[in-house]
Amino acid sequence: ADVRELLTSRIHDVPDYPKPGVLFKDITPLLADAKAFSVLTEVLAGLAERRGATKIVGLEARGFILGAPVAVRVGIGFVPVRKSGKLPGATLSQAYDLEYGSAQIEVHAAGLAEGDRVLVIDDVLATGGTAEASVELIRRTGAEVAGAAILLELGFLAGRERVERALAGAPLDAL
Ligand code: IMP
Repeated sequence: ADVRELLTSRIHDVPDYPKPGVLFKDITPLLADAKAFSVLTEVLAGLAERRGATKIVGLEARGFILGAPVAVRVGIGFVPVRKSGKLPGATLSQAYDLEYGSAQIEVHAAGLAEGDRVLVIDDVLATGGTAEASVELIRRTGAEVAGAAILLELGFLAGRERVERALAGAPLDAL
């Protein structure tokens, strides 16, 4: 409960960003607070260990910031899932629908393999589209998805159902 309170107090609501009518959750105050960032890293590292993760996958861009210290803490590798066109090597890609139009994410084909157990990390779960596509993408490398961990779930958007369906029994933790 204390952890939850500390983390929540360091996430700020920004109205009308990036456009009118949207309430943006800003996690930069949490990152700037050494105590809060370190507590978050410890909690996520504990989850990664419980899931038996052998790799952390962070989702661009804030999933990189949250996921990388967790990988170091646990002593496992970090693999980025990026928006298309950013990775130099051979990639697998996955398209998904946005509110208007569609987007594509990619992962290095050589970054994950059969036998890997992946914990997916991101900051915010909204519609669940990004996490769902990531889970599908990761599976196509042959790796197993051991779970997903999200800092903040926007509960009113029903993203959870969508991601849980993709996870097919692996746990989704929202802190
Ligand atoms: P979804 O695909 O609709 O679930 O959106 C999740 C993605 O959008 C994540 O990668 C988040 O980083 C980003 N996102 C959506 N809403 C917010 C927000 O309020 N604050 C920060 N990131 C957000």
